Amino acid sequence: METTLAAQKLLIGGEWRDASGGATMDVVNPATEEVVATVASAGRADVDAAVDAARRAFEGPWSRLSARERGRLLWKLGERLFEQADRVGRLETLHNGKPIFESTQVDVPAAAECFQYYAGWADKVQGETIPVKGNSFTYTLLEPLGVVAAIVPWNFPLLLAAWKIAPALACGNTVILKPASQTPLTALALGAMAMEVGFPPGVLNVVTGPGSSVGQALVEHPGIAKIAFTGDTSTGKAIMRGAAETLKTITLELGGKSPNVVFADADLDAAVRGATTGIFYGKGEVCAAGSRLLVERSIKDEFLAKVAERAKKMRPGDPMDPKTRLGAIASKGQFERVLRYIEKGRAEGGVVVAGGRAADIGTGKGFFIEPTIFDGVTPEMTIAREEIFGPVLATIEFADEDEAIARANQSGYGLAAAVWTRDIKKAHYVARKLQAGTVWVNTYNVYDAAAPFGGYKQSGFGRELGAHALEHYTQVKTVWVDLNRS
Ligand code: NAD
Repeated sequence: METTLAAQKLLIGGEWRDASGGATMDVVNPATEEVVATVASAGRADVDAAVDAARRAFEGPWSRLSARERGRLLWKLGERLFEQADRVGRLETLHNGKPIFESTQVDVPAAAECFQYYAGWADKVQGETIPVKGNSFTYTLLEPLGVVAAIVPWNFPLLLAAWKIAPALACGNTVILKPASQTPLTALALGAMAMEVGFPPGVLNVVTGPGSSVGQALVEHPGIAKIAFTGDTSTGKAIMRGAAETLKTITLELGGKSPNVVFADADLDAAVRGATTGIFYGKGEVCAAGSRLLVERSIKDEFLAKVAERAKKMRPGDPMDPKTRLGAIASKGQFERVLRYIEKGRAEGGVVVAGGRAADIGTGKGFFIEPTIFDGVTPEMTIAREEIFGPVLATIEFADEDEAIARANQSGYGLAAAVWTRDIKKAHYVARKLQAGTVWVNTYNVYDAAAPFGGYKQSGFGRELGAHALEHYTQVKTVWVDLNRS
């Protein structure tokens, strides 16, 4: 496989090209610290070319296909992903460091399902007839926006691209995908597969390069109608400012500091599992990670002891080993950032009850961190407020239901939350009170292409997945036809 990774090019208008300036960037395997590929590092001229190609495809071949034909191509792309799950999963692990189990069993199949889910929607996006006053036939058309730029982060490089590309294409838009600099390989593989299954050239373009140049050029480009972004809240704000000049439509899926609220009457064994996977799945580099564990005071010590016991058994390992459940932090920069947060947690009075250090898997290489749990955290501490985006859990206790809700909502973020209780009325009551775009009851981190996902507050706006995403990739045209007979 490695030989195919030599030098990766940009996919523009169905052709593989070097960056116009000839620049490249290295892709590093975070588990070994080795350079595993180089990719083209695009500039503004390449963005211009991609927008041109996407615009031509939008006005040309893509607009001539029927909605059902678009759906058929999306279905085929999903099929191809299912078939290639092992190869694409290995690529995802290679550049991201996540366990191969997650890449091949979760990320790639979920991306494939997303394409097939929206394949079904392609010919069901329809307008309405409206009973207006007077003698008119008035109806609406749901039309595509044009060229969509999908800008995605490094934590779920393929899946978060699918969440944007699938509904965008189903609705008849064309797409320029810009993956994160650290994780461009699966985006390029997806572009290649789209060509193989028969998407017309220019419908899906992949432009690799830094966010500060390529990303910004996409955000400012007048030929782009919409930015679909997942990433950091501060980047989201910059994108919003940048998109204002050309009044682009934007959807932003941003950070989180999600509370996992455990009441004393919960099934505690299930809650222990939920608390552990809620934060350590995906190395905690999950926007919806349950990074704040809120536990009722009466059970806190007993409960936390069990969570810590599980965490201590979760040793980081070689991400390519199918038995590994905790991989490498995605990059050196992120590794250092997470360790700084752990130090800050200690300095501000948090008590480490598990982990707390970098880990070595026996190779002396790679960016591994032990699953880390803090007890004695108060809501004011940095580790209770800021998104760490790593395997670090902050435990906060509460006295009763009101305090649980208040503390859960004491965050600028509002992406996800969970509540653990056997009391069905309490579960629904708390679910309504939590300020979050997703609330899980007695479970954590479950997703489906049909269920909308997105944030409240500074976790962003707009929804991905489900029928709700379609409204972010269409615009409404109202047509009035005079039926008066003179
Ligand atoms: P990031 O914001 O640094 O980068 C995300 C993408 O934006 C990358 O492709 C990057 O190159 C690009 N980018 C950077 N600066 C840009 C600019 N000025 N203009 C345009 N594009 C720019 O985020 P990251 O570090 O890659 O990802 C981690 C963050 O993503 C975390 O904060 C996490 O919470 C968030 N996230 C959110 C969700 C969600 O659904 N809400 C999902 C996954 C990750």
